[in-house]
Amino acid sequence: MAFVVAIDGPAGSGKGTITKLVGEKLNLVNVDTGAMYRCVTLDCLRKNILPEELEKIEKVLEKIDIRFEKNKEKELVFLNGENVTEEIRSTDVNLNVAKFAAVKIIRDKMTPLQREMGKKANIIMEGRDIGTVVFPDADVKIYLDCSVEERANRRYKQNLAKGIETTYEEVLASIKERHRLETEREVAPFVQAEDAVYLDSTNLTIEEVVKKVVEIIENKKNA
Ligand code: C5P
Repeated sequence: MAFVVAIDGPAGSGKGTITKLVGEKLNLVNVDTGAMYRCVTLDCLRKNILPEELEKIEKVLEKIDIRFEKNKEKELVFLNGENVTEEIRSTDVNLNVAKFAAVKIIRDKMTPLQREMGKKANIIMEGRDIGTVVFPDADVKIYLDCSVEERANRRYKQNLAKGIETTYEEVLASIKERHRLETEREVAPFVQAEDAVYLDSTNLTIEEVVKKVVEIIENKKNA
């Protein structure tokens, strides 16, 4: 196995931004596993498939092709050859992704794909179950936390910047509900790995978090 850094944390904790920046700094391939669950969700929503319709989901999973591609400015996500980078962040996907991510056959398909990526390159992978299920033996595990109010605040501002109209209260309620579904599900529930380093980003700037994460990784490398 190559060198693997696992970053788990709740929605809005800054995982995506931090993982990307640290990956660039330390030359690690960055993998956003949430984007993979978002792709499955989008595929099912477009085909009007519900999370309970396992046979139909099975068919979707048989054919699904999820790819990441990096261009100069950003990481692009392709679902069956189509660029869905923006669409997988839509309100519709946000509202439904935690329900699809709780479906065992979906996780059973995604987890091996994620493990494969860790065989091919040195990676920094972010998600909810990376340090607990996907890579229990990861070289470095970090649990990136943040208060729910600040997470909602960050998402609310991101929405405003993107022109998406929501109130702070709506964002807060949806983040809380997603968290409830993720932590209460039976398969791969979202919990902190016992051996993960806990990092609270509530009162830290992006630069400060990046610095701390880089330090944690460097310390492990040199240990
Ligand atoms: O990280 P992001 O918010 O984009 O993830 C979208 C959803 O995918 C999460 O709400 C969670 O339900 C699911 N997810 C998961 N396991 C992962 C990554 C994401 O269940 N490793």
